[in-house]
Amino acid sequence: MIDKTFVFGHQKPDTDSIASAISMANLRNELGENAECFRLGNLNKETSFALKSFGVEEPSLLEEVEEKSNVIMVDSNEFAQSVKGIENANIKMVVDHHRINLQTNDPLYYVAEPVGCTSTIIYKLYKQNDVEITPKMAGIMLSAIISDTLLFKSPTCTEEDKKIAQKLADIAGVDMYEYGQNLLKAGTDISDLSANEVINVDCKPFEGNGCNFKISQINSADVDDVFTRQEELETAIQNDIKENNLGLYVFVVTDILNANSKVIALGEKADVVEKAFGVELDNNTAMLEGVVSRKKQVLPKILENI
Ligand code: MG
Ligand code: MG
Ligand code: MG
Repeated sequence: MIDKTFVFGHQKPDTDSIASAISMANLRNELGENAECFRLGNLNKETSFALKSFGVEEPSLLEEVEEKSNVIMVDSNEFAQSVKGIENANIKMVVDHHRINLQTNDPLYYVAEPVGCTSTIIYKLYKQNDVEITPKMAGIMLSAIISDTLLFKSPTCTEEDKKIAQKLADIAGVDMYEYGQNLLKAGTDISDLSANEVINVDCKPFEGNGCNFKISQINSADVDDVFTRQEELETAIQNDIKENNLGLYVFVVTDILNANSKVIALGEKADVVEKAFGVELDNNTAMLEGVVSRKKQVLPKILENI
């Protein structure tokens, strides 16, 4: 249908990317638009747990958008992390909480706030438009906030994220701490994933100073257990480096209990990680105390030093 608006987040979708697409499409439909939400890849276990918990259907997979399609981007504004064909789509609106790295030919609505989660912004859009938030929508938006802020432990988390999470938890009828622990734990099981799948659970490509690099992140409640697979993980990373001509690959394993991260850094420019964080790589790994946020703690420092 020609007047349909495609609503989607980023590739390698995380819970915010999916929840924001669903809740944003729902809001636009409530406002009389013909909007449909999509996913740009397979759901991770955390997101599947969230959708199942609140009885929300999985969005359909979108592989490409046709020229001039109307789209709304949520939780991302980078073409490199978006759908095939995005360059020639009609971007009507962006709702996001990342750095802005987008140029369009036409004017658009752009809602950006440096809060912990896109769903926090979407909550406010519901309020502004006087649209009721159903328990199902509240449940998945709450899940997104818990996921993006690591249950409020991330430095990206603001007071507003926390306040809105509480309101959403009340609407959804759950205890946000109890539900939050279960949600995060659901996302840490990598036992049935291949090494290549593990590094692609949540991987984003970037470019800085002429160097292409990737930062991949997984959450874990048992970091040592992940590192028992270091050898096969490194093989998968090296393959990606060769295939995509990367100067650096940083694989971040975030400890959700202690709020720090252990990384594997590979590639010609692996020493950037040493410079950026004042650490020494030992067997390609380093402990980054207090680091849990790719957006706010890892990416800026790498960009500064690459
Ligand atoms: Mg995201
Ligand atoms: Mg997000
Ligand atoms: Mg994320």
